[in-house]
Amino acid sequence: MTRDPSDAQARRAVPPVICYPVETLPQPDMALYTAARADLRKTGEVLVPPREAATFEVPAGHFFRITSVDGPQVGDLNLWNRNDLSERFYSGKTRALHGTHITTGERMWSSFPTLRAMATLTHDTLGWYGIDEFGGSVHDVIGTRCDPYTHNLLKGGQYHHCCHSNLSRAVGDYMEMPPQDAETHVHDVLNVFMCTGFTRDTGQYFMKASPVRPGDYLEFFAEIDLLGALSACPGGDCSAEHSSDSAACYPLLVETFAPADGALDGWVPPPANGYDRSHGA
Ligand SMILES: [Zn+2]
Repeated sequence: MTRDPSDAQARRAVPPVICYPVETLPQPDMALYTAARADLRKTGEVLVPPREAATFEVPAGHFFRITSVDGPQVGDLNLWNRNDLSERFYSGKTRALHGTHITTGERMWSSFPTLRAMATLTHDTLGWYGIDEFGGSVHDVIGTRCDPYTHNLLKGGQYHHCCHSNLSRAVGDYMEMPPQDAETHVHDVLNVFMCTGFTRDTGQYFMKASPVRPGDYLEFFAEIDLLGALSACPGGDCSAEHSSDSAACYPLLVETFAPADGALDGWVPPPANGYDRSHGA
């Protein structure tokens, strides 16, 4: 341990400044989306089995919903531009812009160089949860995804149903390639329904039983053509442990919806980022 300098208290007392004030961030037209979601036509569904993953496609301007069905269950979500898989969800930048957890009105941002909204959260039945006394909240962009490499590092052994492997198999099936090749497309997730935070004393990532109950859902508006992959985490409600078969696990339902004709008049998909990419050269 180092010794405190004489002005340690004064230095600690400096108030924080928000890194990325969002007042100038392109804002979604929530009134338009709210009106559109009042009259949706279901176009498809996929039931993601426990400890497995599944893919789904959503055209730009359509909606999709992830619903808890049989019991409390956490889902790990990846998103790509369906027409260019190199554009994918950027969990870290989404966290920098919106905070550790996201909810209605906030957005899932894509990787460089496009850096644009891929999806906007349009309804969250767990929006009431807020931030609990432990600093926990739901739908985090901090937890990467459970994976067999970290599991091997910490506990040894070969476990094949972590979200990373589930997503790799599902994307491999979609792209007709082995999971070893598909896993390069798998990226840090949105942890749907997961209740997480950082401990105040040690700053460690924690999880606790998800408050999700059957019938709860998180709904998204697709800003661009999307490929999605969702894993029903082996941790179940993530109340005890993940990366094993010991937790009770349930399926997750993904449904896609089309808005009524004309409901999105005036809306256009967001353009790719305006930076010229010359990097000063
Ligand atoms: Zn997981």
